[in-house]
Amino acid sequence: MNKANLEMLGRIHSIESLGTVDGPGMRYVLFLQGCPMRCQYCHNPDTWRLSGGRDMSVEEVLEDYESYRPYLKGGGITCTGGEPLLQMSFIIALFTEARQRGLHTCLDTSGITFRREGQTYERFLQLIEVTDLFLLDLKHIDNRSHQILTGCENSAILNFSQFLNENEKDVWIRHVVIPGITDGIQDLYNLGLFIGSLDNVKALEILPYHTMGVSKYEAMGIAYPLEGIAPAEPEAVDRARLVILKGITDKKRERRL
Ligand code: SF4
Repeated sequence: MNKANLEMLGRIHSIESLGTVDGPGMRYVLFLQGCPMRCQYCHNPDTWRLSGGRDMSVEEVLEDYESYRPYLKGGGITCTGGEPLLQMSFIIALFTEARQRGLHTCLDTSGITFRREGQTYERFLQLIEVTDLFLLDLKHIDNRSHQILTGCENSAILNFSQFLNENEKDVWIRHVVIPGITDGIQDLYNLGLFIGSLDNVKALEILPYHTMGVSKYEAMGIAYPLEGIAPAEPEAVDRARLVILKGITDKKRERRL
């Protein structure tokens, strides 16, 4: 136990004490405040501001975790957001202490702040030391479309994916199918080619776009960017999965030649 780690404060949006979709097993899921992206389909716009939420120390989080530990067998702790990388020092401190208690650590991130330079890079090396699993959201493989969809380029995200691969860190990749936006056949195939160039991908989750976040936009008084776009049908998700898998298979075959 390290006193400085335990006293480190994080800005917390909310806690899901028994989460089932953010990593293996039943998990304690911490939603962190702050995100530099503005994904048009974001269902958590209330996490965008770093100044929102409330402060919690690493010690308080771990004490709270302990009260649920009997129900979290086979699970662990997941940090999501928002974009948890905006609170990197807190994540590193929390995961360091969690690991010492034998907990599985998982980070749900876009990787948007990744840089292969100076102190930032050093921090990422520390981060991967204490993180067992990354849930990586690949939002759009085409850079121009990614910019339109999220307000940011995808170069840091793809670079981060390669960094995790080089360091043999386990990754689950997620992709959200938005009708007319992220379901183009060529883009899905290209996404598959990219994923096929990685050797550390343990799972692929193709998720349907949904509109459950719309009420939050209304409550916050901001226009919903994807107004009029219907949720993705199961068939569209199945089709996207097949195209991505074809890209992965083709890339793996090409690499074996
Ligand atoms: S990265 Fe996540 S939290 Fe940030 S805007 Fe996109 S969907 Fe929302």
